[in-house]
Amino acid sequence: MILMKKIEEYVRSIPNFPEEGIIFRDVTSVLQDKEGLHLAIDLMQETLKDVAFDIILGPESRGFIFGVPIAYNLNKPFIPVRKKGKLPCETVEMEYELEYGTAIVEIHKDSIQPGQKVVIIDDLIATGGTIEAITKLVKQLGGEVVKIVFLMELEGLKGRDRLKEFDVSSVIKYE
Ligand code: 5GP
Repeated sequence: MILMKKIEEYVRSIPNFPEEGIIFRDVTSVLQDKEGLHLAIDLMQETLKDVAFDIILGPESRGFIFGVPIAYNLNKPFIPVRKKGKLPCETVEMEYELEYGTAIVEIHKDSIQPGQKVVIIDDLIATGGTIEAITKLVKQLGGEVVKIVFLMELEGLKGRDRLKEFDVSSVIKYE
């Protein structure tokens, strides 16, 4: 009998990376295994089975890895959210706070039409700051966030509290 590994078993946890005291949840160990990759995409996609939506948005860079195959499978367009200065056409931007300093995310202004239903996909939610900023960009362009999907959630950081008004799903939960 072949025993399927659970998705959690594909994630490698690295203590003290990128700094002392942090346990980094590494997705490269999921991606580099063909079964791990299938399982991650399938389980994330499964959370969208009853969701009607128009487009998928994913932030640079791990949001691209998971967002594109799901958009392709479900026959939807994919909109990249990038760090400031990378997109060539007219953009809207949003600044948000990091542990030290701030960061800015951007999307092309013409990437969301008013009234469109938007799904946001990323690998992991920590404080929720990145995704909160992206929800503001969607709102600014007149879109409606109907679902947010993560592969992993660091529950202790309470990122969900910042996304209270949205329907949030995560496949793997860490304390
Ligand atoms: P947040 O804005 O929720 O605080 O941070 C989330 C972002 O940080 C995600 O885009 C994610 O890629 C990255 N991140 C933070 N901690 C980890 C981690 O332990 N593993 C991985 N893979 N990414 C992390």
